[in-house]
Amino acid sequence: MNVQPDLDFIRTLKEAGGDTLKKCYQCATCSVMCPLSKDGEPFPRKEMIWAQWGMKDRLVNDPDVFLCHQCGDCTANCPRGAKPGDVLSAIRSYAYTFYGWPQPLAKLASSAKGLPMLIGIPVVVILIMWLLSGAMHIPTQQEFASHGYQQFFGHWDFKWYAKNIFFIVAFMVPSLGLGLFSAYMGIKKMWNTMSDNAGLNSDFRPSIVQFGKDFVWPSLVEIVKHDRFNECGTHLDRVRGHLPLMLSFIGLFIVTCWSLFKNDVLGVIWPSFHGPMSLMDPFKLLANVSAVALLFGIAVLWNNRKKAEEELDAQATFYDWFLIWEITAVGVTGLGAELLRWAGMPTLGYVVYFFHLVSIMMLFLYLPYTKLAHLLYRTTAYTFEKYKESAFGKSE
Ligand code: SF4
Ligand code: SF4
Repeated sequence: MNVQPDLDFIRTLKEAGGDTLKKCYQCATCSVMCPLSKDGEPFPRKEMIWAQWGMKDRLVNDPDVFLCHQCGDCTANCPRGAKPGDVLSAIRSYAYTFYGWPQPLAKLASSAKGLPMLIGIPVVVILIMWLLSGAMHIPTQQEFASHGYQQFFGHWDFKWYAKNIFFIVAFMVPSLGLGLFSAYMGIKKMWNTMSDNAGLNSDFRPSIVQFGKDFVWPSLVEIVKHDRFNECGTHLDRVRGHLPLMLSFIGLFIVTCWSLFKNDVLGVIWPSFHGPMSLMDPFKLLANVSAVALLFGIAVLWNNRKKAEEELDAQATFYDWFLIWEITAVGVTGLGAELLRWAGMPTLGYVVYFFHLVSIMMLFLYLPYTKLAHLLYRTTAYTFEKYKESAFGKSE
């Protein structure tokens, strides 16, 4: 086989935490130690040689790269210090940019150099929205006590649709829409290439309902239950951070959906549904419990990341730390804004709330390019694995 190494790809992998990949001498200890590797096509040994050869196309379309949970068992046992777990992580980071759409935004989100722009875009968008809303002022103590942040973008007399909701929807929905569309494009490209590589029969396919029921749903259940994560030995404590973090996202998603339904649907019929939730409202309680779980989870992951850098000499990468900082910002500003509301401090409260909106917009907008994209691509890899092993996965 004539291999044309992609030198730029190798250089990018080294910069993204895979600087040790050349040390591998193919002993296969890592594949034996990996609790998630399967007998037929063990990883990460084969990925190490592909990475050394700069086989970019093979690696970004390799489902095994996304099935790895970065537990570090292989890295801890590699006799050459080649850190295969870190190399796989670097390949995943590269893949998020490779699949990202539009490419300029994906590239911007791939290194610390883009950070001022990554923060600047949502800051400018939200400032313009605030300016356009005509509500750019700090409320009085009394206004703040009765409305909280419900009139951040002002208030109008049209009782069927709150002005605040209108402005928040105006920038959050396009941000999420762009993120989800980009994710759809990336997943579609990845799935098609994985299918071609595996030689799957494209004429024999399940219906959408059967695909969802038999392949996507069991994959989601497995991910939520952390079944494979629990098999990791060296850094099992990562589950203690990852699980509450994931559950907090689910909790906050439910609260956001309810809030939109309450304000945008029920509020249209019964205007009294507009307004802040009381502290004892079950959804408010869920939001607060989720916020605490989010901060707990991110603190554990933060600590684990530091430990990995100190004990396993893992490289501090932009991908790892950007997501940790971003989630911390969402949790701290969200909880901070609420505490400042209780304390009756409108000026600081509005500043913190502004940055809360900025951090949420960043999470939505950059979802497919940051490490958070592993949620999407790992689910795709789980689904593909099940699909490939089913009757639909028969070769042509
Ligand atoms: S990464 Fe390490 S353990 Fe794995 S094959 Fe290479 S040298 Fe062996
Ligand atoms: S980091 Fe863990 S899951 Fe990933 S290849 Fe290494 S041992 Fe396997």
